Amino acid sequence: MKTNVLGYPRIGSRRELKKACENYWSGKSSLSELVNTGKAIRQHNWKLQKDAGIDLIPSNDFSFYDQVLDMSLTVGAIPQRYYEVIRQEGNTDLDLYFAMARGYQKNGLDITAMEMTKWFDTNYHYIVPEFHANQQFKLFSTKIIDEFYEAKQLGIITKPVLLGPVSYLLLGKEKEAGFHRLDLLKNLLPVYLDILEKLKAYQVDWVQFDEPCFALNLSPEEQQAIKYAYTEIKKRFPYLKTILTNYFDCYGENLKTALSLPVNALHLDLVRCPSQLDDILESNLLKQHVQLSLGVVDGRNIWKNDFQQSLALIKKAAAKIGTANLMIASSCSLLHVPCDLDLEINAEGLLPEIKQWLAFAKQKLAEIVTLQELVSGKDSPRSAEKLQENIAAIHRRQTSALIHDSAVKQRVKAITEQDTARKNEFTVRRQAQRKSLNLPLFPTTTIGSFPQTPEVRSWRAKFKKGELSQSEYNQLIQRETEATIRFQEDIDLDVLVHGEFERNDMVEYFGEQLAGFVFTQNGWVQSYGSRCVKPPIIYGDVYRPASMTVQWTKFAQSLTNKWVKGMLTGPVTILQWSFVRNDQPRSQTCTQIALAIRDEVLDLEQAGIKIIQIDEPAIREGLPLRQADWPNYLQWAVQAFRLAASGVQDTTQIHTHMCYSEFNDIIQNIADMDADVITIECSRSQMELLDAFADFQYPNEIGPGVYDIHSPRVPAQSEMVNLLEKAKKVIPADQIWINPDCGLKTRQWPETKEALTEMVAAAKFLRKTI
Ligand code: GLN
Ligand code: ZN
Repeated sequence: MKTNVLGYPRIGSRRELKKACENYWSGKSSLSELVNTGKAIRQHNWKLQKDAGIDLIPSNDFSFYDQVLDMSLTVGAIPQRYYEVIRQEGNTDLDLYFAMARGYQKNGLDITAMEMTKWFDTNYHYIVPEFHANQQFKLFSTKIIDEFYEAKQLGIITKPVLLGPVSYLLLGKEKEAGFHRLDLLKNLLPVYLDILEKLKAYQVDWVQFDEPCFALNLSPEEQQAIKYAYTEIKKRFPYLKTILTNYFDCYGENLKTALSLPVNALHLDLVRCPSQLDDILESNLLKQHVQLSLGVVDGRNIWKNDFQQSLALIKKAAAKIGTANLMIASSCSLLHVPCDLDLEINAEGLLPEIKQWLAFAKQKLAEIVTLQELVSGKDSPRSAEKLQENIAAIHRRQTSALIHDSAVKQRVKAITEQDTARKNEFTVRRQAQRKSLNLPLFPTTTIGSFPQTPEVRSWRAKFKKGELSQSEYNQLIQRETEATIRFQEDIDLDVLVHGEFERNDMVEYFGEQLAGFVFTQNGWVQSYGSRCVKPPIIYGDVYRPASMTVQWTKFAQSLTNKWVKGMLTGPVTILQWSFVRNDQPRSQTCTQIALAIRDEVLDLEQAGIKIIQIDEPAIREGLPLRQADWPNYLQWAVQAFRLAASGVQDTTQIHTHMCYSEFNDIIQNIADMDADVITIECSRSQMELLDAFADFQYPNEIGPGVYDIHSPRVPAQSEMVNLLEKAKKVIPADQIWINPDCGLKTRQWPETKEALTEMVAAAKFLRKTI
């Protein structure tokens, strides 16, 4: 029985990759420094897994930015506009790669970045491949082969990981009409065969094909395409050992197809969907000699594995098909969990009692190996002891007094329908707000955060280390806030924000102040490119001991006669971007958070704040992967937002914000949230995303983002006017707000100032043309 890991975090346990990339981008370090950092991280990960006793160690799971973008480079799916970048002297393929990810504005070139979107229901973002009719593919980057060879040189035979051809195509987008991207499979497959040929020449053993599209609703054509692809691969490489993976949900209706594939092993995510094991074992479709990779160790959450539960699943499978046909595995790539719990040494952050309930990537390796030892009988002397320790830890968590708070549970029970509805409908509120707010046509605003410069971050670091007192820290933040208020006044924005300088992260900031949350020091997880987040851990019942944002918002409002918008993170997003307790339904935890945010909304209103934004960028990514599960999720998610937002008077304007979403299929639910104003990400898709709102005749006000904040590129006024002209064609002018795509925290001041100045100019231009 082998142990199998689907992928390992690549940012480095101290975010080495983030720092190396950012230094390279800003010209502070050389290409070779970046390349060496990448190499060091890969070697570290391989050795760690080898030493832990993992048999199937992944390679090509490393990436300088994103594994889907890597695949686009591998198969040469490079949009024409980027070739200019390598034609410039001194630029390498890696510069081309980063240009695709981040855009390129240098030496007379001005190229926008490729689109980015969420990876299934995670908070990881991938770069969306672009496809054209009859597109030809060719092996462009040999990264996967190079990395296999690199590990081999170290004496480690790895299992290269490829995003499977069908999922790769399905995750992309047609850039012209008249074809379906799956039509390209015939052109694409030869590149996969070419890669396998080259890996074979290096004596590859196992190859992992990720086909996470299996967790979605697949059409018969899509299922047929998968069959075709893997049949062709088997035909050409009958002796290559292939493992096909699916994760984040069951194979579901696609199970028959999955079981019919000529692959050597099939991976099951038994954390998300333990019931599929019975379906498979009981069906007589499982071919003899096809191994099952049992994903029992959670790659999406940080709770210690419950060995007894896992062993029950493994033993059930073993009884049916024998241990020789089993692998013990992570449920998905460990990319989605932090690197190492051993780095959490500060008991102030993570109470020791809670720490012993957890396992991060490195600890999960040990869990996988211990489970294998326990089942295979080749008991190391310690494994029986480890089982006892595990049983005790699981029991201590279940019975811990830290987890349950009866007052919170009572309050949830007492929620009424009235609590989730505004006093009057939007048309009435709108009148009241127009009177009280007195804003111009096309009001301009931002999404909340302003640049989190290294300086601002250094204040927080010093404050945490005790090098700055609370009052010194507050003064610095106040100074930055005041400067930002002045800047917004200077460029004549209509609705101002305080800038969120006191916040490390939009979820962490709230989690730190809510009961039921704990924090890690080093629990970083990649969100996109070099951006990492440190999700809080929700371990117990949630409530708000004291107000969280009132002081800063009030301070900012006291500086200006313009409206300052209060900034909150919504309950679904707090839930979605945290590691959530797995001992009660997520809906229950979300409702508890909603009550806490509701308290904050009311306190802000009480403090004289007239506009309050409750960000819900994660509402769409929380959608279950299968449509049958949507209604239930949408019901409680929308209710949670309404519970948070509905306590206020008509004159208080509630905003919400969402980014990187497709809105078509949930537009009714977004409307049901009944925010007075919604701001959305739109510019990377050239306002395409606005169509859903237009077709639906979305009744409330809407701010379609007019420029992309994920890139340092400064848009021209005319560009934004063009986008807004597009918007105006489909949305009545008096419903439109003007704002960037998202918060500006990752940007620097010079480009921020230029871009917002252009944006206000665009608004003024439009007002004149009406
Ligand atoms: N208010 C947050 C900010 O401006 C919103 C961020 C987000 O939508 N991801 O940073
Ligand atoms: Zn956003």
